[in-house]
Amino acid sequence: MSEATETKDIYKPTSPNSKLDFASVWEYASAPQDASFAEVKDRYELFINGEFIEPSKGRYFKSLNPATEEEIADIAEATQEDVDNAVKAARKAFEGEWSSISGKERAKYLYRIARMIQERSRELAVLETMDGGKPIRESRDVDIPLVAAHFFYYAGWADKLEYAFPGRTPEPIGVCGQIIPWNFPLLMLAWKIAPALACGNTVVLKPAETTSLTAMKFAEIVRDAGLPAGVINIVTGAGQTGAEIVNHKDIDKIAFTGSTNVGKIIRKAVAGTDKRYTLELGGKGALVIFDDAPIDQAVEGIINAIYFNQGHVCCAGSRLMVQEGVADKVIRKLKDRLETLIVGDPLDKNTDVGAINSQQQYETVNKYLEVGVEEGADIYQSKCSIPEQGFFIRPTLFTNVAQSNRIVQEEIFGPVLTVQTFRTADEAIQKANNTPYGLASGVWTDKGSKIFKMGSSMRSGVVWANTYNKFDPTSPFGGYKESGVGREGGMHGLAAYTKI
Ligand code: ADP
Repeated sequence: MSEATETKDIYKPTSPNSKLDFASVWEYASAPQDASFAEVKDRYELFINGEFIEPSKGRYFKSLNPATEEEIADIAEATQEDVDNAVKAARKAFEGEWSSISGKERAKYLYRIARMIQERSRELAVLETMDGGKPIRESRDVDIPLVAAHFFYYAGWADKLEYAFPGRTPEPIGVCGQIIPWNFPLLMLAWKIAPALACGNTVVLKPAETTSLTAMKFAEIVRDAGLPAGVINIVTGAGQTGAEIVNHKDIDKIAFTGSTNVGKIIRKAVAGTDKRYTLELGGKGALVIFDDAPIDQAVEGIINAIYFNQGHVCCAGSRLMVQEGVADKVIRKLKDRLETLIVGDPLDKNTDVGAINSQQQYETVNKYLEVGVEEGADIYQSKCSIPEQGFFIRPTLFTNVAQSNRIVQEEIFGPVLTVQTFRTADEAIQKANNTPYGLASGVWTDKGSKIFKMGSSMRSGVVWANTYNKFDPTSPFGGYKESGVGREGGMHGLAAYTKI
């Protein structure tokens, strides 16, 4: 076969609408990240009162690498007694040394933690990827830099709180119980711990049971930074441990990020108590593309909105609404772009879409793929190869969906997009707002006036314009309706950790 014929074969179209066979044209050699950056112990204990201690009942559970299904380490399971000890340590620290130091001194600790995170950033990124399945490119370039940025940002506020609340006297709330999810383990920890410390509170935090490792590394950083004992306590365990925190009588505030179902349980549990709470829950973000939008930029935005972190993002843009005039073009370009996404080893620097976080979530997403097909939608999945071992799902989109379909209404929390069309802005607004959620949405258009109209009409805490999933410690984040209560980030995030 001549060279010329070979080249011609490579460019054989995969579908009548596709000009290139991207999958075979763009094959990258692997570029694995050296995993030896991350030193992993066989077993991790609880971090209470500045020390690593064994759980009272001596029970441990396994943390798996979802890309290989291999065990990484044993993690301590905290019981009611352990949670109680952690709360006692936090109370003692709150009433003792921590409350007597100035905002300037608190800032120094926060700056120190931020710098230590930067120093250990590669190690933390590798561990985040091994434990949670997200591509190393994301943990290295997004998660960990944002973690450090949050500590730097709130360090800046620690000695300036009176400027955030002019004419008023902000005081810390007390002992904060914080429960975080598995999709951005260390980043969610930073969202919660950095403002809490800046405002002078103490903390009992529980990471999600599938992703405890970076929280335990963070405990080492806290110890090495010389933070007074008991200011930060980290207890590991599953939902029961979380419930022990929520129900503990000596906790003054609960900060939770996770599913709407657990959020509802927590809201009921704290009703009638004097505990404060902030809840950051699920979402079903709408992406609205008008026919005057820069289409290629919009397609990139959609890819980032739904396939970033395997779609394990509470603010993921999982419902695409495209104006009829450009619908065919957008869907064709989207399918072509889907074929270029590299799915596989999260530790490979070329990987775009990593592993689904756990077997349980893998089953949930697959169940929704079946639901979508049963509901009569047309499924399209990229044709890429995926590893045999581990929890991988091909980037998926559904066309021919109805507003009432479960795949349009319910949060899937995976790499699954639904596509609808609209004719007028009002129709797009109506469809965008027609779910129980209201966390984030996006709009792509050439016209500033349309951005303002959509921004003020879409009922979501964040509306991104001509971009998506852009995060910054200075911006507040939070939801309407079943997406939660309260705001985190920016100056709003200080209000959640102070009594005025
Ligand atoms: P996801 O759907 O993201 O797994 P969950 O809401 O189940 O979200 O989990 C988020 C966090 O909430 C995890 O740390 C989990 O262990 C914790 N959790 C689960 N059930 C409860 C509960 N009943 N009370 C408090 N925390 C819980």
